[in-house]
Amino acid sequence: MKLHEYQAKDIFGKSGIPVPNGQVVTAVDQATKATQIINGPPWVVKAQVHAGGRGKGGGVKVVHYPYEVVTATESLLGKHLVTPQTGPEGVTVNQVLIEEGIEINSEYYLSMIVDRLTACPTMIFSQAGGTEIEEVAIKSSELILKEHIDPAVGWMMHNARNLLYSQEPPPPVGALTALMSVMANVYKIFMTLDCTLVEINPLALTKDRKVFALDAKINIDDNALFRQKELLLLDDPREKDPLELMAEKYHLNYIRLDGNIGAMVNGAGLAMATMDVIKMAGAEPANFLDVGGGATEDMITKGVEIILKDRRVKAILVNIFGGILRCDVLARGVVAAAKKTRIRVPLIVRLEGTNVKEGREILRNSELKFLVARDLGEAADLVSKQVAQ
Ligand code: GDP
Ligand code: MN
Repeated sequence: MKLHEYQAKDIFGKSGIPVPNGQVVTAVDQATKATQIINGPPWVVKAQVHAGGRGKGGGVKVVHYPYEVVTATESLLGKHLVTPQTGPEGVTVNQVLIEEGIEINSEYYLSMIVDRLTACPTMIFSQAGGTEIEEVAIKSSELILKEHIDPAVGWMMHNARNLLYSQEPPPPVGALTALMSVMANVYKIFMTLDCTLVEINPLALTKDRKVFALDAKINIDDNALFRQKELLLLDDPREKDPLELMAEKYHLNYIRLDGNIGAMVNGAGLAMATMDVIKMAGAEPANFLDVGGGATEDMITKGVEIILKDRRVKAILVNIFGGILRCDVLARGVVAAAKKTRIRVPLIVRLEGTNVKEGREILRNSELKFLVARDLGEAADLVSKQVAQ
């Protein structure tokens, strides 16, 4: 679950990480009032969307007159914003954050993730922060420092020192205490809120050596939301892909991707393997869809419907290993979906496992046109041939 910048900054502020004063507005007429409460000029007007790269996409405006705060708010609210991270279709801006503008001397990058190789919470710090951090990571990766934290020991002062003193020149002496405090607090937030990401870019240093989190990103591990109930209130379903939202409603594990092969699979591991095989056969998956072990006929029907709602889909590969989910249940679900929505694309089915005979029988006796594959390799070949035609 992703939080908005203003929600993440609220958490930062309460945890002792300095953030600029600001206010969220959802209507243009609230903007004038905001300029009276918030220090300025300058003011910064920022689109609140679950996507980065806003600076490059025109979603962050630094302005110097109160009327400009209003026009900047107007130009963002309700509009479509396209950034390097939204894809060409963009996202709708429902909320705008108006903040006091901070005079920036240096822009640092600071984040915390779980590093999969070491399985450790890992802090990443760079003195070359700002909107070009992706390019820095590619072209001069030596400027990006990583520190693994032993979760059994927790955050130690030497972790901060390793990050701050490993590069010449280190940040100015007057800023070190503030930076160490921000780092310790980022670690604390990351652990206590079950985050998958905490990111501050830029972490700004002012001329008088003050440190401010000018941007804030917090992602929460969905699997930990059962014990982070108060964070659930911060969820904003408007930011989600409508198909992903529909899938969530039916407890289907669905992620939309860019390709044109719809895939319906049971089990996350098998879903990943299926995506790999589709790619190896020269095609691209349109989605990840794990219907899970306990899928019902109705869930399967909904799964097929969701896949078909994506107009880019040119073929569907159903790859089921019948275990807890029996092949006959799957087959009935697919047939029911075909009755409800005309399946306009070739369907390739590979079934194996419990009740596979019954499953194949149900498909054969249906009016459905489909191709049966004996194994996964053949299934992928059939699929890529269908889209190549
Ligand atoms: P992102 O592009 O979505 O990551 O949005 P950011 O919040 O990082 O804003 C993009 C850029 O706007 C930052 O890298 C800063 O250079 C600039 N910016 C943001 N807040 C301020 C501010 O208070 N003062 C000034 N001068 N620039 C700011
Ligand atoms: Mn940023």
